[in-house]
Amino acid sequence: MAKKFLIIGAGLSGTVLANRLVAELDCTIDMWDERSHIAGNCHTERDEKTGIMVHQYGPHIFNTDKKEIWDFVNSFMEFRPYVHRVKAMSKGKVYSLPVNLHTINQLFQKSFTPAEAKAFLEDLADKTITDPQNFEEQALRFIGRELYDAFFYGYTKKQWGCEPTELPASILKRIPVRFNYDDNYHNNIFTGIPVDGYTALIEKFIDNEKISVTLNKKFDPGTEDVSAYDHVFYTGPIDAWFDFKYGRLGYRTVTFETIYAEGDYQGVTQMNYCDADVPHTRITEHKHFTNWEQHEQTILFKEFSKETTEEDIPYYPKRLQHDKELLLKYRADAEQLDKTSFLGRLATYRYMDMHHVIGEALNYATDFINSGKTGSRPPVFPNIEQ
Ligand code: UDP
Repeated sequence: MAKKFLIIGAGLSGTVLANRLVAELDCTIDMWDERSHIAGNCHTERDEKTGIMVHQYGPHIFNTDKKEIWDFVNSFMEFRPYVHRVKAMSKGKVYSLPVNLHTINQLFQKSFTPAEAKAFLEDLADKTITDPQNFEEQALRFIGRELYDAFFYGYTKKQWGCEPTELPASILKRIPVRFNYDDNYHNNIFTGIPVDGYTALIEKFIDNEKISVTLNKKFDPGTEDVSAYDHVFYTGPIDAWFDFKYGRLGYRTVTFETIYAEGDYQGVTQMNYCDADVPHTRITEHKHFTNWEQHEQTILFKEFSKETTEEDIPYYPKRLQHDKELLLKYRADAEQLDKTSFLGRLATYRYMDMHHVIGEALNYATDFINSGKTGSRPPVFPNIEQ
């Protein structure tokens, strides 16, 4: 008899999982999402006024080093070439990001060669820090005080609402430092933007008569009877499943102020504002994501970061020490549940890029399907690679 599954959340992890389950198993799937659209924070929509494809929850650029993930997404929709180039405003001047030879030469007003710049930064680096324990130490150890103050201290304090000494070094490791003029913001082999946007792409993942999606449906594990399902896959915040019984996991959220203008407003997709006394963190000009389209007007999002309240959408998991302790308790409780699994950024409480989410959902689907074949208990959580 066909299995009946419930997937809570029609974001990237839920939809990739649904795609694999209906392809490999005799099953039907109900998907519920509390928002009025699928695709979670990847959601894109054409702006009515300008016709520009807008990244409704902030900039999303698809990157991966894994050919199988690149092939997976490209099998549903054409991806157009796009290289993310970011500029940084610091003390009223515009610089190249991520930190590269141009940035170093701009900031120090030099004309260094790669070898000279490397030697120069080695001199500036704080070599008393041998094993960086936090974001700030990682920065001071590898790029020194001047670059840290110009581009990282203020932005990070605004973005995370705490001192960079409280944050893990791993956040800084997301961004490369280069001693050449390569200003691609990402280091990955494959990069691009889906030609019709992420929501249209994700729609194709779940375009199957065996998958039925209900929007505007908030799931309440306390009152909802889901016992008719053979398995429930939950992709919402793990603390919400348990009604926050140990307390709330910390997240930063972002808000946007929309700007309309004629022509080209800032000449680049993303401009970061690195000074602590400028209230916003970055401005995204959406038309530059789709440079194959022509638009006379332009729409921009000025982005502000703040602490998450109960009404806000959780964006960035803070993962401070206190959060990690709570997470362990929630994970231990989750392990006790029957026929229930937790998947994705919110259910595993991690800072994940789209390719991490897709890779994990694909692997999880394989593990789940295999557990059915061997009769073993399906994993409650995915195998966490990063
Ligand atoms: N960051 C910074 N200055 C910048 C850009 C990034 O200090 O101009 C720091 C900040 O702490 C940020 C982290 O590096 O949270 C990771 O940046 P990334 O651009 O990867 O963030 P995302 O696009 O995921 O918001």
